[in-house]
Amino acid sequence: MERRGEEHNCDYCGIGSEEEVVQCEECRRWFCNNKAQTNMGSHIIIHLVMARHREVTLHPHSAHGQSQLECYLCSDKNIFQLGFIQVLQTDNSGDTDKNVIIICRAACLALEKYQDLTWSQEDYNAIVTEKMIADWIVPSSPPERLSCGYSVTSQIIG
Ligand SMILES: [Zn+2]
Ligand SMILES: [Zn+2]
Ligand SMILES: [Zn+2]
Repeated sequence: MERRGEEHNCDYCGIGSEEEVVQCEECRRWFCNNKAQTNMGSHIIIHLVMARHREVTLHPHSAHGQSQLECYLCSDKNIFQLGFIQVLQTDNSGDTDKNVIIICRAACLALEKYQDLTWSQEDYNAIVTEKMIADWIVPSSPPERLSCGYSVTSQIIG
């Protein structure tokens, strides 16, 4: 497959909008979060599944700023095990603050407590849902913005 000029364009479809692409930490290629005409998942998820890669970084200019997605507690980077949760943080004077952190469901979600943080498992939102990254983290484009008639086939996946 032909590569586009800009370095952060989706390897599958060429979308290059900074908010809409994420980088695979393991092979450094960029992918978008569009499902396009396939029900196999968004381009980044298809790539992660096919290549057995698991770690993803957001673009530095994305709405959330550059951040490697990893568990706040144990630094697990397997995106399929990660989600966001609202935590209550209690400081020394007893004041509480609300925050959102990334946490893994493999080991840490069930703890419901870490140092000065507490949370409820019910507030957990997985990063990967319905074979795409939740679109409030990485927006996906409406189908009409994708190049006409282009579809992902098994030849270019991998
Ligand atoms: Zn794409
Ligand atoms: Zn990769
Ligand atoms: Zn963890």
